[in-house]
Amino acid sequence: MDVKERKKIPRQAMPEQDPRRRRHNYEEVPYGYTEELAVTEAQRCLKCKKPTCMTGCPVNIRIPDFIQLIEEGKFIEAAWKLKEQNTLPAVTGRVCPQEAQCESKCILGKKGEAVAIGRLERFAADYERKSGQVKLPELPPPTGKKVAIIGAGPAGLTVAGDLVKLGHKIVIFEALHEPGGVLVYGIPEFRLPKEIVRAEVNYLKRLGVEIHTDYVVGKAKTVDELLKNGYDSVFIGTGAGLPMFMGIPGENLVGVYSANEYLTRSNLMKAFRFPEYGTTPIRSKRVITVGAGNVAMDSARTALRLGAESIIVYRRSRDEMPARAEEIHHAEQEGVKLMLLTNPVRVIGNEDGRVTAIECLKMELGEPDASGRRRPVPIKGSEFIIECDTVIPSLGNRPNPLIPMTTPDLKTTRWGTLDCDPDTLETSKKGVFAGGDIVTGAATVISAMGAGKTAAASIHEYVMTGKVTKKPKKEEKKEGAEEEKSKK
Ligand code: FAD
Repeated sequence: MDVKERKKIPRQAMPEQDPRRRRHNYEEVPYGYTEELAVTEAQRCLKCKKPTCMTGCPVNIRIPDFIQLIEEGKFIEAAWKLKEQNTLPAVTGRVCPQEAQCESKCILGKKGEAVAIGRLERFAADYERKSGQVKLPELPPPTGKKVAIIGAGPAGLTVAGDLVKLGHKIVIFEALHEPGGVLVYGIPEFRLPKEIVRAEVNYLKRLGVEIHTDYVVGKAKTVDELLKNGYDSVFIGTGAGLPMFMGIPGENLVGVYSANEYLTRSNLMKAFRFPEYGTTPIRSKRVITVGAGNVAMDSARTALRLGAESIIVYRRSRDEMPARAEEIHHAEQEGVKLMLLTNPVRVIGNEDGRVTAIECLKMELGEPDASGRRRPVPIKGSEFIIECDTVIPSLGNRPNPLIPMTTPDLKTTRWGTLDCDPDTLETSKKGVFAGGDIVTGAATVISAMGAGKTAAASIHEYVMTGKVTKKPKKEEKKEGAEEEKSKK
C-alpha cells in the first residue's frame, strides 16, 4: 500500500460501552479493537524513515516495528516486540497519555489524526494474554546477586522485569496486600481491569520474581537491614501516596475524603462488589470533586457509579485541565458536570459535623504563573454555595516520608522526594537506587517505568562491578562523534 492510500484511511474508533449503561457498572469502558480494526489502523502508519513517534516514548518502544507486525496479522509477534522494551504493555496501552507522548510526535497528527498507537499497543497485549501464548524469555544462568525492590508499582515491577532477565535474584516488598501500586489501588476497574495487572504480575512471578505483600519497609525491616541481610542492592519505588489537602476551613468534617481513600475503598478494598466483599461503599447524594487531573476524573466517575450526582470543581479553565483528554471526554459523556473557574474556600457542616455544602469563589485567568499556565485570580464578591454531602479533594500526592525517616543517610529534596543522580538514579546511599513518583513527585505510569529501566541498568552495573558509570548524554555523544569525524 502506498503512502497516498495509507493517508486516506481514517483513524479507527474503538468500540465502547454506551455511556447510559456504563455509568451504572464497573466494566471496562472501551472494548478494544477487533482484529480487523487493528489491521486497518496499522495500515495508517507511514513507516517514516526517522520515526519521530519513538522519541515521544519514555521507554523507547519500537513503535513502527510492532505496528508493522500487526499490519501483517502477526499479533502475537507484535506483543513480543512490545515486551522487549515494555514490561506492562496492556497497562500502558490503556493509561498512557498518548496524545502528549508518542501520538503527539506522529507525522500524521500534524495535519490530521495521529496513528492510534496506544489502542494498537493495547490490542496486541490483550491478544497475547487472551491467546494464552505468553512467551517467557530464556533466562541467563544465575549471577548469584540479590536485589531488593521496595514497592510493587510500575517503577518497581519494571526494575524487577529487567533485572530478573539478567539472571539476578529479585525480591519485591510491597506494603499493600496486592502488587500493582496505583494500578490496583488508584485507577478504577472500569479504566484498567485488575485481571490485567494480575496477569502482568504473574508473568514476573513465572520469571522467578519473589513478591512479599503486607510488608512495610521502614517498619518490618529498614533499608539498612535489607543491605546487611544479603541484598547487594536496593531499589526504592514507593511512589507518592500521601494526599494533599486544600487547607481550607471545614476540611476535617465527616464526608471529606482524600481521593486516595475514596478510590482505595472502591478499587483495592472492592467496595463496589459489596456485600460480596466486606467494605461498605460510600453512598452520597451529591459529590464535589476538587481538581481536574486523572485522579479527579477517576473519583468523579466512581462517585457517579456509586449513585451520586457528581460535580468537578476546578479553578482554571478547560484548556488547563491536566487529565487525559479521553478521561475528560468519558467523564462528561457519563454525566459528570464540570464547574470550571471555580475555587472552594470553605466546607460547611451541620451540628453533627457532617458536610452539607461547599462555598466557592468564581475565578478568572490572569498572567501565566511558574508552571506556564495562566494564574487563576478570584473575582471579588462572587462567593456562592453548592449543597453536597461528600467532598473529595483531589489535588495531587506527595511521597510518604517513612523510608527517608528510617534511612538516615538518604538525602531528600525540599519536596520530600528522593535526591538522586538524574542519569543513574543512584541515591545518596551507596548501592541504593530509586525511581518513579518517589523521585519525580506524582507523574505518570510510563515515566515511572522509564525510570525503572534506567535504575535497572545502573543496578546491574553496580552489582556486577561495584560501580556505576554516568552514561554520556545524547548531545555529548553526538559532539564526541562529530569530533571523531573531524579527526578522520
Ligand atoms: P506507585 O504506583 O505509587 O507504587 C508504589 C508502591 O509502593 C505502592 O504499591 C505502595 O503500596 C508501595 N509502598 C509505599 N511505601 C512502601 C513501603 N514503605 N514499603 C513497601 N511498599 C511501599 N498515570 C498515567 O500515566 N495515566 C493515568 O491514567 C493515571 N491515572 C492515575 C489515577 C490515579 C487515581 C492516581 C493516584 C495516579 C494516576 N496516574 C496515572 C499516575 C501513576 O499511576 C503514577 O505516576 C505511577 O503509578 C507511579 O508509579 P510508582 O511505581 O512510582 O508508584
